[in-house]
Amino acid sequence: ELFSGERKNSYGYNIEIDAQWNNFKAMIQPFMATTWQAGPIINGEVLSTNTTPFSIVAPYDHNHIVGQVNFASASHVDLALEHAEKAYPAWRDTPVTDRAQALERLADLLEENYGELMALCHREAGKTLQDGIDEVREAVDFCRYYAVQARLAMSETETLQSFDHSTLEISRQGRGVFVCISPWNFPLAIFLGPIAAALAAGNTVVAKPAEQTSLIAFRAVQLMLEAGIPAGAIQLLTGEGATLGEPLTSDKRVAGVAFTGSTGTAQRINRSLAKRQAGPVPFIAETGGQNAMLIDSTCLPEQVVRDAVRSAFASAGQRCSALRVLFVQQDIADRIIPMLRGAMQESIVGNPEYHQTDIGPVIDRRAQTRLLQHIENMHKNASLIAQTPLPFDSDKGTFVAPSAFEISGIEQLSEEQFGPILHVVRYKASELNSIIDSINASGFGLTLGVHTRNETTANHITHRVRAGNIYINRDQVGAVVGVQPFGGQGLSGTGPKAGGPHYLKRFTREVRKTQPQ
Ligand code: GLU
Repeated sequence: ELFSGERKNSYGYNIEIDAQWNNFKAMIQPFMATTWQAGPIINGEVLSTNTTPFSIVAPYDHNHIVGQVNFASASHVDLALEHAEKAYPAWRDTPVTDRAQALERLADLLEENYGELMALCHREAGKTLQDGIDEVREAVDFCRYYAVQARLAMSETETLQSFDHSTLEISRQGRGVFVCISPWNFPLAIFLGPIAAALAAGNTVVAKPAEQTSLIAFRAVQLMLEAGIPAGAIQLLTGEGATLGEPLTSDKRVAGVAFTGSTGTAQRINRSLAKRQAGPVPFIAETGGQNAMLIDSTCLPEQVVRDAVRSAFASAGQRCSALRVLFVQQDIADRIIPMLRGAMQESIVGNPEYHQTDIGPVIDRRAQTRLLQHIENMHKNASLIAQTPLPFDSDKGTFVAPSAFEISGIEQLSEEQFGPILHVVRYKASELNSIIDSINASGFGLTLGVHTRNETTANHITHRVRAGNIYINRDQVGAVVGVQPFGGQGLSGTGPKAGGPHYLKRFTREVRKTQPQ
């Protein structure tokens, strides 16, 4: 019953890989005992607040303090918007090449501070070493990619000629103050991605990162200032959505919002924006998914199991793109399911610092409680396929045992479970179309995995399932900036796709070249 694919993480598997890991471990080592401090940064200054600082503890060990954060209040929101608005004209009129260069300097600084940022990903967000490496890399890629995109999009002028020979020149510029609200699951990459696009396009930014990962956001803003981004152009509000969300998104000065997080919060932001006595503004939302993988009897079982396990459980399932429902064709189910069980029993859950760890903790107690409730519910209403054992000292942190359950259909799931829980559905070949309908009926449309060696089946599925990112015969997480633009439709978000050629343009407005500004 054992999974027979390659094991990347076992000790001694590959000496060169071990040496590389030791290098990365040496890079984070100087920051393993650091305690960071953070708070709102308004106009380049770290403001003190009246509230008691919020302590951030490592998700894998709650006795391990990572730092303290001062939370901003509603009056800081006002101040941040005021400074961002004041700074906008000068930043908009800064040549795009200078704005792009500032982002490229930021990318260099991120690389120079790789060790500290990885340590923050690990200690504050509970990321594995590999996820920390990938996270910093993606943040660097976003900065460089949007710098290039800005040079292209912001310097082109289109000349339109009318039938009466009159001409019109149009180009793009920033829109004003953009609010960027970001999640804890990609605390550096998705914090910086939208900010980089907004700034490169000539907007100023008020950033509100998830409170759980304030420390890395604070460090990133310090690096932005060091890179030469003007203090007025980037304002940081540390704190909770419950306090800051409403005053931020109901303010008339806001010229656009870029948000990544839950569908429910996106709907609240949309309502708040709509209620303003102001014109409608762009709202870019990247939200959740009820992501499926469909496999038929022509698939390669080892590859399916490897890709399904990675898609469902990597990053403890805390990715919008993660696989939630694996549809297995009946004819092959009795082969796949035991292999899945084997792979899950072999996976290692634990402290993400050790490189043999495959799956780390979930972000906090609240997330853990919700996931455990769902698991309890599944024990009653579905049949357990496998559960990866937890380490003996898992009570120190917020671990959830990766679990797979067999259910009757995707309809059995009412909402996205943002963690290491996989649902498996068996289907008969004749039911393929109704399976596709049921996936679409969930209303989400983010990622889809397909495993088949039959091209007609692959085409049939990919043309009918609504999903922003479709992956064939591979895993379905880890979209790469610039080549796999990421984003969905329906309940999964508005687009444009992050890391794609149309993203930055959404942060701009069109202007007549001669138009007075
Ligand atoms: N872009 C990420 C991926 O492809 C997911 C982003 C998210 O979770 O918000 O895995």
